[in-house]
Formats: sequence, C-alpha cells, structure tokens
Amino acid sequence: MRNVTLSIAMLACASTAFAQNFPVTLKSTEVIPGMFMLEGEGGFAGGNMTLLVGDDRIFLIDDGIEAIGPKLIETAAELAGRPVDFVINTHVHGDHVGSNAALASDGAVVVAHDNIRKRLLEDSAEAGGPGGLPVVTFADAVTFFVNGHEAFVFHVAAAHTDGDAVIHFRDVNIIHAGDVHFNYLFPFIDLDTGGSIAGFLTAQRRMLALADDETVIIPGHGPLASKADLQAAVDMLADSQARVATLVDQGMSEEDIVAANPLALYHDDWNWDFITTERMTRTLIRSMAAEQAE
Ligand SMILES: [Zn+2]
Repeated sequence: MRNVTLSIAMLACASTAFAQNFPVTLKSTEVIPGMFMLEGEGGFAGGNMTLLVGDDRIFLIDDGIEAIGPKLIETAAELAGRPVDFVINTHVHGDHVGSNAALASDGAVVVAHDNIRKRLLEDSAEAGGPGGLPVVTFADAVTFFVNGHEAFVFHVAAAHTDGDAVIHFRDVNIIHAGDVHFNYLFPFIDLDTGGSIAGFLTAQRRMLALADDETVIIPGHGPLASKADLQAAVDMLADSQARVATLVDQGMSEEDIVAANPLALYHDDWNWDFITTERMTRTLIRSMAAEQAE
C-alpha cells in the first residue's frame, strides 16, 4: 500500500512539474468588451475557449487539455479578477474538458449535457479525473443570464458526438459552436462517440438559421468565423457526402473510393494533419454504411 501511495504522490508531482513546464501559453482575443476567445500559442492547448467576465459571474466555455489547466486558471483570473464560476463543456473530448477537475477544485461549477456526464462516469480521465465530472446537466437546453448577457446553451443531437452543446449569446449575436464547426479544416465527426454526418449537417444548419451577416462564430478549432464561413463548411460537407454517395451507389469498395479521391477539389483548403482528405473520405463511407444498416 505504501508503495502505491508513494507512486501516486510521485505521479502527482510529475504531472504538476509537467504542467508548470508546459511550453504552450494562452492568447486572448477580446471579441466584444468582456468576452474573450482563448487559444493556444506556441503549441496545442485544446479547442478554442470563450471567457465571459463582468460584475456578477465568470463564465467559461470549454477548458482545453489537462496540461493547460494551471495557465488557464491564471489567465482567467487575470482577465476576470477572480476565479471562474461556471464552466460549460461543449462535448466530452479531452481537448475541451481536460481542465474540468482543475477548475472544479478552484471553485467552478461544471455544466454539461447528460451524455457527457454518462460517458465521464465510465472513464473520467478525459476530464482530469472524477473531480472533473459535471455537477449540473441538461437534456435539451439551459440559459445563463450573466454579466448582462443571455447565453442560450442548446443540445444538437448526434453531431460531432452524442453530447454536443452550442452556445448562442443572443443579445450580442455571437455563437460558440464547439466542434460542430471546424473553420476551414475538415471536421472530425466522431462516429464512435455517437456523432453522425447527418446530425452534424443538421446542427450546422440550425446555427446558420440563427446567424446573419454580423454574427461572430467561435469555432471549436480554427480562427473566428462568419456566417459565410459556416455556409462554406456546410456546402463542402454536403457536396462531399454526395460525391462519396455516388461512388458507394456504384458499388465501389472503400479502397477504390479512397483511390478515386472524390474530395480532391477540397484538399488544398480543408486538409489538415488530424483530419486528412483520406480520413474525411473514410468517415463519409463509414457513416453511409452505418446509416444504410439502420
Ligand atoms: Zn472534439
């Protein structure tokens, strides 16, 4: 037992040292007075985050990877003048909920869709341990009234995962999309965690319906976006789906479709190291097979 305790203590020390030496810093962009987009600088810190500061409650959307936790707490305290009160998780992936436990131990209340808590109850590692479990959950939607703003948090089903939330700051025309929008990057649609191409497109079109030419969209990954950027993503994905469907309907095998490269025209603008053109093609084929099997 003593050895176990010792090695846990050593592990804890090692991870603290790692966090302190973690070379990535956070860059903040003030979207409107009091609202900041936070993103990694000098390396990967996780998905884009939104911090809303003001007189009443400090409100944070997503909290990056676990290693950025200490710097996130520091940055938020610098910008807000005090610790975070509420953290909203847009979905269960570790690059969006990684600092849940750190923020919770610093006093934050973690709020998320029911399915995020369900998944984290099975394995809480993505959220930094059991302390990172959401303590308030919702099924469809919840609204926060903070610092004079109205943040409508709503679930979009079977999109990037099965527990996605989009946050619409109604009074200031800002949408935090989470990973339901990757700006000029092929999207990651996590079929193994309940995502689907059809649900992803439905969710994006729901955001489009809320947006106008002035809307600022904070994507899960990539730079700040406009309605036109989101429209471009919808057009690209819908057309990609149609291109792949044509080949599937012709009876071509997955390998033959990949070799035919039906998404070649999108490669230059959308391919990236995580979701390559090939991976996007395979995801579309797999998603179609799954939908046909239903
Ligand atoms: Zn994700």
